[in-house]
Amino acid sequence: MDARHAILFEPVTIGPKVLPNRFYQVPHASGFGSDKPRTQAAFRAVKAEGGWGGVCVEYAPFAPDSDDSPAIAAEIWDDRDARALGLTAEAIHAHGSLAGMELYHGGASCPNGTSRAVRLAPSQITSGVQWGGLAKEMDADDIARVQRNWVLAARRAVDVGFDIVYVYGAHGYLMTQFLSAHANRRTDGYGGSLANRGRFWLETLAAVREAVGGECAIATRIALHGDSGVPGAEGLPGIYVDDMLMLVKMADDLVDLWDVTVGSWPEDSGTSRYYPEGHERPWAHRVREVTAKPVIAVGRYTSPDLMAEVIRSGAVDLIGSARQAIADPFLPRKIAEGRLDEIRECTGSNVCILREETFNNVGCVQNATAGEEYRRGWHPELFPATADPSRSVLIVGAGPAGLECAVVLAKRGFAAVHLVEADAEIGGRLRWTRRLPTLGDWGRIIDWRAVQLARLPGVQVITGRRLNAADVLDYGADLVVIATGSVWRGDGVQPGYPDPMPGADPGLPHVLTPEQACAGKRLPGRRVVVYDTDGYYVAPGIAEMLAADGSEVTVVTTFDVLSPISDQTLEGDMLRAHLHGAGVSVRPATTITAIGDTSVTGLDRDGQPWSTDCDAVVLVTQQAPLDALYKELVGDEAALTAAGISAVYRIGDALAPRMISEAIFDGHRLAMEIDREDPAQPAPYRRERAELS
Ligand code: ADP
Repeated sequence: MDARHAILFEPVTIGPKVLPNRFYQVPHASGFGSDKPRTQAAFRAVKAEGGWGGVCVEYAPFAPDSDDSPAIAAEIWDDRDARALGLTAEAIHAHGSLAGMELYHGGASCPNGTSRAVRLAPSQITSGVQWGGLAKEMDADDIARVQRNWVLAARRAVDVGFDIVYVYGAHGYLMTQFLSAHANRRTDGYGGSLANRGRFWLETLAAVREAVGGECAIATRIALHGDSGVPGAEGLPGIYVDDMLMLVKMADDLVDLWDVTVGSWPEDSGTSRYYPEGHERPWAHRVREVTAKPVIAVGRYTSPDLMAEVIRSGAVDLIGSARQAIADPFLPRKIAEGRLDEIRECTGSNVCILREETFNNVGCVQNATAGEEYRRGWHPELFPATADPSRSVLIVGAGPAGLECAVVLAKRGFAAVHLVEADAEIGGRLRWTRRLPTLGDWGRIIDWRAVQLARLPGVQVITGRRLNAADVLDYGADLVVIATGSVWRGDGVQPGYPDPMPGADPGLPHVLTPEQACAGKRLPGRRVVVYDTDGYYVAPGIAEMLAADGSEVTVVTTFDVLSPISDQTLEGDMLRAHLHGAGVSVRPATTITAIGDTSVTGLDRDGQPWSTDCDAVVLVTQQAPLDALYKELVGDEAALTAAGISAVYRIGDALAPRMISEAIFDGHRLAMEIDREDPAQPAPYRRERAELS
């Protein structure tokens, strides 16, 4: 280990427990909750195995009046839930790490959709996050009941082995609702002065500490308002940094570990587009000034040097991480062993959060094994040896899918894996995507795989060679994987319009595909329309790039807002503000149906004719798979047999254009399942279901 990083491996005492090092996986959603206990346990255990000294499960509601469904939380309503989650504590302990449970009550933020319990709040005022009805103002019985339930849940958590129990206060939930002078209009002992507004939080902490404080560490998560701490962040104006720091002082005797977050969730889980690594550091410093207790802060840290420096600065005692721990569960071990170039750095694209926001299992663009530990038996670092390493594999196309497939096949011991790429550079669509404004860190997807491939014996990467069917047949491979990707169609085919759009021809000087725009195709004039029916990063990226080059850009989109998928990665508001700042105009809810020489025409939100003048149009409408090579090969079985090719598979965008994370998943899955009878079809995976008694 590099001596500079030794500080990261010092143990840290938290109340009655000792964390073995300073790496701490903070609570974050997984999609597994307590209903998929083995999946949950395997997902968290791999982080402990990889060296994270503290590993938490996601937020844990403990009563029907804190029901966050359809979002998936680690419900700990009763002993059965607790036993299910106990599997996770056990699995974490098996690797010598401590297990954390973030007990949570959302108050007025809880939908209570499944339980149909009345929502609870300090005062009966409109919530910023739940509409269509009001919460009940908590009376003395409600307050006592919630606190009693918190204590009972803490007891349950400790009884099944958890070492750290949270009184979760951040992110606009019940504790913060009490603390907010805006949400809390009470006139009793729980409202008015800061001391009164903080009473509910402090009383709960004291009660939990009294019940289990001798047996576990008590943690509290707080949020300081950072630069997006505008009134209304998290729907909860009225809490300022000084108030929060005062609360830290008041509660300090009751807390063993301060878990510091910043501002609203989009800021706290800030993407690499808009926040640098360690952006939360100044706020952690503010907490450090008022407490000597251990402090954790996140900040999408990926650099061991920066992590060590932050610890040395005294701002924090523990490096908190959710996203980096998903991207590389083995980051601590790799630092300890000096294998720094093996660290799979988080791209900060928030695909993990997108999956959670859409109620899916956790997933990661960098780490295809995330969430697949139990059901598919995948491991981020260990790869089962192939049954027949002597088979040679030719992979055509070095985009995300082909690269991932090559890495995994090589790790499985295939003696000859050839990855052949037409372009001079590997990377596929990421070649140009990573050059779009703000998207540079997405290039880590390629960089990590390039480093791996350079080291793995048996792999050869050949660039600048476009293969046709005859080349593939002549190549001499036993197995062929087609990963040729996709291109953006320039014909304007779009949802609801399956036929080409009149005037949409990228052979014309004023019509462009995204690839052409990135390659610098000359525009005939300054006024450019970027037409987006895709809804993610391509249209905003190209719009910003063209605006920076001096064009007058309008994004016309069929969606109600620009880039709705960016809302699922928590970037939507920032992205729209950023583009506004870059001088890009947006016309939402509009469909373009024809392109003229100097205008586009279509329909507005009300279905009325609409048009605008422009000199050029970039069509971000739909992709087409580049699957001709695959079809030609599989169409001539005799030729394949004569060439000694036993199978041809297709992965990634060549199969169906999708997000980069799905292309990588495809490549990984095929490589893991290639020894099966029909690897083209995903193998069935283990499903956790309620037992029928
Ligand atoms: P995916 O995300 O599925 O990996 P990409 O479009 O990002 O797809 O990457 C596909 C890669 O395949 C591109 O780099 C492209 O240049 C390459 N490619 C396409 N056709 C051929 C071919 N016939 N021979 C070699 N490489 C090819």
